[in-house]
Amino acid sequence: MAERENIDPIEERKRGGVWRLYSSEVVAALVIIVLVIGIAFFVNMFFYGFDLPELAFSEPVVSDTYADSGPGKKEKSFVQSEDWRLFLVNRDHPLEEEFNGELTELRYGEMVDSRIYPDLQEMFDEMRAAGLEPRVVQGYRTRDEQKERLDNKIREYMGYGKSREEARELAVQWEAEPGSSEHETGLCVDISSDSGDNESANAVWKWMDENCSRFGFIKRYPNDKSSITGVKGEPWHYRYVGPEAAQEITDRNTTLEEYLGAVR
Ligand SMILES: [Zn+2]
Repeated sequence: MAERENIDPIEERKRGGVWRLYSSEVVAALVIIVLVIGIAFFVNMFFYGFDLPELAFSEPVVSDTYADSGPGKKEKSFVQSEDWRLFLVNRDHPLEEEFNGELTELRYGEMVDSRIYPDLQEMFDEMRAAGLEPRVVQGYRTRDEQKERLDNKIREYMGYGKSREEARELAVQWEAEPGSSEHETGLCVDISSDSGDNESANAVWKWMDENCSRFGFIKRYPNDKSSITGVKGEPWHYRYVGPEAAQEITDRNTTLEEYLGAVR
């Protein structure tokens, strides 16, 4: 008994009491670490919000219109054409590098790849001669601009009470992931009319659908082809592919994906 009372605290530590003494400190340290990580995460979310997608958005989301690629359907290996006019960008084939070619600024500030400009100008000249008032409302977009558009769309859906995952799922049906928007190539244009009202815009699109292939453009996302293109119908979006391909794609009522053999 006497021996027990005389235990030297240092000896006690050496004999294993050390763990009894430290275990509460270890627990406290762990709690602090968890708290610090939690606070850092929260602060990060608060300030950067959507800039933290790696954790929340790690799974690629496929829209319902694009979900017909079951496990049985193997993705064909696809090699980009050496012809720049046939460069394919979609969800399966995102851009590896940002555009670094020459851009030409259009009348209202939008830009396009300079190589498509002469045909675009000629087409607009002819359209104006036919009494229409076409206007390019969207041309080239940077990757950052595309990211911002997608983020805004996600926020918009979250504003309607959707969770971030739900909002993202809905948003990617309207806005491409950064890197997979054709606008990042500078080879396509969204066209409307000067006044922007339905009637004049429809007249422009009607003219485009009947004539644009002569100038090397195709209607890129027809309504009835969304299961192939992965994009819902966009009557305003036209893509430059060159006159030969444009003629063939239009005559065959097909898509750029099918024309290039890049359908998954
Ligand atoms: Zn577009």
